[in-house]
Amino acid sequence: MNAGEALSSYDGVTIALSKGRIFDDTAPLLKRAGIVPLADPESSRQLILPTNRPDVRLVIVRASDVPTYVQYGAADIGIAGKDVLMEHGGGGLYQPLDLRIAQCRLMVAVPRGFDYAGAIGRGARLRVATKYAVTTRNHFAEKGVHVDLIKLYGSMELAPLTGLADVIVDLVSSGNTLKANHLEAVEEIARISARLVVNVAAWKLDRARIAPIVEAFEAGLEDSA
Ligand code: ADP
Ligand code: MG
Repeated sequence: MNAGEALSSYDGVTIALSKGRIFDDTAPLLKRAGIVPLADPESSRQLILPTNRPDVRLVIVRASDVPTYVQYGAADIGIAGKDVLMEHGGGGLYQPLDLRIAQCRLMVAVPRGFDYAGAIGRGARLRVATKYAVTTRNHFAEKGVHVDLIKLYGSMELAPLTGLADVIVDLVSSGNTLKANHLEAVEEIARISARLVVNVAAWKLDRARIAPIVEAFEAGLEDSA
């Protein structure tokens, strides 16, 4: 057996997580669920991290890739922002728990002084820059507003400042980043928090292996409530 087979035949529970923003909030949740990584995900170059529990390992992936790993069963469980889940669509995922971490709002923001209501009232076509193309398209379609979508991968705040777009759709928590870039939030699209997601097939067919981990997260949430 080669190393790849050894890793892919792991018979414990694999949890997909991302580093960065969401991890700061995730680490205490893991701990309350009794799961402690044996290396620091922030600094380790390892992408598969063993934990204090031989039957639980972590895989570290890009935030927007968490639903994909879980959907295809490469991970059994994942922690993903509602923003990412809305964009992914949620197919193949069971979402049992709102973890109430990484809370923020997905919002439409405009340059300070831009008459958003007026532009919409006039039926103006809006150029919207975002990394949330699917969610943004759905939002404006529901409002009956015509948009040209400009897909970006980060630093959305820059788009209106450089004339790339009229408005942006981005996550907002304190609003300080918007303020620093002379932008203001004008419309909420969704309230965001991180969710525990589970591969639907694993949940149905292998409940005995998966449920105790989900229950451990749930118990940890109740302890902190
Ligand atoms: P990436 O740069 O790969 O998109 P981030 O670390 O910026 O990853 O974001 C990961 C997740 O953290 C997002 O999908 C979102 O759910 C959450 N998040 C991002 N920004 C904020 C914020 N300002 N406040 C709270 N949660 C946030
Ligand atoms: Mg980011």
